[in-house]
Amino acid sequence: MNPKRIRNLKPGDAGRGPVAYWMSRDQRVEDNWALLFARGMAEDAGVPLVVVFCMTDEFLGAGLRQYQFMLEGLQEVESSLFLKNIPFMFLRGSPGEEIPSFTDKHGIGTLVTDFSPLRPKREWTEKTASKLEIPFYEVDAHNIVPCWVASGKQEHAAYTFRPKVNALLPEFLVEFPELEPNSEFPKTFGGNTEMMLPERLKVADADPYFEPGHFVPGESAALEVLDTFLTERLDSYNALHNDPTKDVSSDLSPYLHFGQISAQRVALEVEKTRVDEESKAAFLEQLIVRRELTDNFCYYNRAYDSFESFPAWAKETLAAHRQDRREYLYTQEELEFAKTHDPLWNASQVQLLRTGKMHGYMRMYWAKKILEWSESPEKALETAIYLNDRYELDGRDPNGYVGILWSIGGLHDHAWREREVFGKLRYMNYSGARRKFDVDAYVARYLPDE
Ligand SMILES: Cc1cc2nc3c(=O)[nH]c(=O)nc-3n(C[C@H](O)[C@H](O)[C@H](O)COP(=O)(O)OP(=O)(O)OC[C@H]3O[C@@H](n4cnc5c(N)ncnc54)[C@H](O)[C@@H]3O)c2cc1C
Repeated sequence: MNPKRIRNLKPGDAGRGPVAYWMSRDQRVEDNWALLFARGMAEDAGVPLVVVFCMTDEFLGAGLRQYQFMLEGLQEVESSLFLKNIPFMFLRGSPGEEIPSFTDKHGIGTLVTDFSPLRPKREWTEKTASKLEIPFYEVDAHNIVPCWVASGKQEHAAYTFRPKVNALLPEFLVEFPELEPNSEFPKTFGGNTEMMLPERLKVADADPYFEPGHFVPGESAALEVLDTFLTERLDSYNALHNDPTKDVSSDLSPYLHFGQISAQRVALEVEKTRVDEESKAAFLEQLIVRRELTDNFCYYNRAYDSFESFPAWAKETLAAHRQDRREYLYTQEELEFAKTHDPLWNASQVQLLRTGKMHGYMRMYWAKKILEWSESPEKALETAIYLNDRYELDGRDPNGYVGILWSIGGLHDHAWREREVFGKLRYMNYSGARRKFDVDAYVARYLPDE
């Protein structure tokens, strides 16, 4: 595999014990470069491979819907690994503590993990590296072009990032090898902790608005979603993906977020498909350029979820409009439970509460209105991140922070005509939405009594 995908976080001589892959962001067995790299290390050293996952009871506001989605996906990981004689160990607690003690307890010889640009995983990884005395590697198994290879700095916008990533695709967008099994199941790895929900979520009304079933979790479900998208919807993606009344987008974001499918697998399958070329290009622009640009931002800007990380022109123009009168001001609770004067906004919030995934076009409108109806841009940012991370299955993701910063903070965008509250930020409104799609049909779907 391409060595540029791997970083050695802790050099040293491998111990004689098993190789462990600490799975975190990439929760799948197939098409996983971190798992494949760990497998290769184990084979070279003639030792078994083990996979370990460590669950924290609190993670960036995630609730029942996300924990359930993740745990069911991990159950499938465990079964698939078992068929390859690879043990799956489930730990609970803070990974910065639990992973080093796991490696000590089991005499692990080498540790491998996957990459995330977000602060929690980076802090756990740094803590783990500081405690370990064995070699420790990090593999970017999430991006097609490894984040640190795609660009060495925070990119200005999609137009500066696109040529860099596209130029590297021939080198990185390649087929995956098969994952080889362990020769036998290593008996020293038994007595797994049960994969159970955190206590705080085991109450009857932990997520009262959620209607489970819109998204079936797991690696095999993800491949089915991909297959249906390729055969039934990709062809009309270019024409219709911005219309919230037409369900044309891929619906892959929850699976991509939890790593239950690899973006590289999706791109490879799209390339093989014979459909409208403009649709393919439009989809790959989102999947590759736009998605990998969000890792670029969060990786090179550790303050990725704050007002400070807005571009200078946006901070300036928002500051100049701080005192503007807001026609409507809503509390976080009024927004959360879709109690605004705007049926279109309320419908999008209800879609989120019920299904766990708001349509992509509506997310822009939704966040822009939160800016318009909040007392300050800082408050708007806080509310949007809270709602996004709490209710989106795909939340707590670089795509979420960047999508919100694009809407509320002008990130990766440019100045537009100046107006109240928004200053020079791009504006969106109800009549604009009416010109684009059948607003009444969308509202009727989620608010039939309006
Ligand atoms: C305010 C706001 C919040 C958002 N929050 C999230 C979030 O929490 N998690 C998340 O994954 N996406 C987020 N997005 C980006 C985008 O809306 C979703 O990725 C998309 O709607 C997911 O649906 P899909 O998989 O059917 O998309 P498709 O249109 O089928 O796209 C395929 C994939 O491309 C990527 N993609 C699509 N649009 C974007 C984009 N604008 N930026 C980056 N990558 C993109 C996603 O990985 C997506 O799954 C947000 C956008 C905005 C404006």
